[in-house]
Formats: sequence, C-alpha cells, structure tokens
Amino acid sequence: MSLTPEEKKAQATAVIREKMARAQELFTRFGQDFLSEEGIVRLLRRYRQGIERSNQAMAQVGTFAECKVCSVDEGRGCCKVGLENETTVIILLLNHLLDHPVPQEREVEEGCFFVGKQGCRLLAKPYLCRDYFCRRHFEKIAKEKMIFVTQELHQELETLYLLEEALIKRLRERLGGFLLDFQTRNYPWW
Ligand code: SF4
Ligand code: SF4
Repeated sequence: MSLTPEEKKAQATAVIREKMARAQELFTRFGQDFLSEEGIVRLLRRYRQGIERSNQAMAQVGTFAECKVCSVDEGRGCCKVGLENETTVIILLLNHLLDHPVPQEREVEEGCFFVGKQGCRLLAKPYLCRDYFCRRHFEKIAKEKMIFVTQELHQELETLYLLEEALIKRLRERLGGFLLDFQTRNYPWW
C-alpha cells in the first residue's frame, strides 16, 4: 500500500526527531569531554573555516544564487520532505559541538525539516547537501568556476570525514560497539 504525502512526512519527521533526541543526549553526556580535547577542538575549528570557505566559493561563482532562484522564485528546489534524513546523528551532534542550534520544528511545509525561508538552517550539513550540483549549475555556470567550487569544498568535506571518524571512535569507546549506528541515513518509506 502506498503512503500519502502526509504519511510520508509524518514518518520522515518521526525518524529525524529520533536522531535529534539521540544527538542531544550524546551532547549532554559527552559534549564537554569532546570540547576539552585539543584534537577535536582543532578539527572543529578547521571544519568551521572549511564551511566558510565553501560558502564563500559558492557565493562567488553563483551556485547559491541559482539555488535561490530555483527554490524561492520558481518554487522548485531540492530541499524536500524526507531529505532531512541524509542528516545523521553525528552531523546533528556536530551542530551542537559548533554551538549552532538545531531547529526543532519544520518551517517549510513541503520542505526538508531543516530548510527555512533563507535556506538551510544547519551549520554542519550532510555531504550530499554540499557536493550535489544539478544540471542547472553546469548549464549556467562556467566549467572552470564549478571546478573551483569543488576544490574549495575539499577542506570542509575532508574535515567532516575526520571528525566523524574521531567522534565515532570515542563514542564506541564509551558506549560499546553494538547497536550504535550513528551514520544511518534512513529513508523510511523506501
Ligand atoms: S541544486 Fe539544482 S535543483 Fe537543487 S535547489 Fe539548486 S538549482 Fe534547484
Ligand atoms: S541543505 Fe539543509 S535544508 Fe537542504 S536538504 Fe540538506 S539538510 Fe535539508
């Protein structure tokens, strides 16, 4: 039996809320430990710089502007219901560690749980949300500029990977290695 859009949204919301609760709990229990470790703090600093560097490149070459026209002016866009579940527990935990509030309510009815009127409300975002560029970008923006953006994303995405590895290792040490799937993406109805 196929689900209605409302049923799909309810399922997607339940899954992301579960992940949000788990990330909040991990932050409450271990956040201060992690933030007192020099290696983690250094990676968080590098990650934040990487995000700024990627954002600057996207603004400079115009991918942000294309997404805005597509999403706001044309009412299309790709931050849709369900895509919030690209966001893992670790990504949510990273937002806490970066002292960035995780939105608690869906703001755009037909959108991803985390999209707002001004775009994505997360600071740490899933890989897919950062390195996906659709055909529109490649048609409207010069190839050299798209290559530049991809290069500039390197610092952010490499540091995200290193942070994920470091946090999962420490969480496994504290909690044991069973039933701890911090990286599940979950598309509940697929
Ligand atoms: S990636 Fe493409 S489809 Fe998605 S919002 Fe941007 S322009 Fe639109
Ligand atoms: S960029 Fe942000 S709002 Fe868009 S799908 Fe990804 S997490 Fe959701």
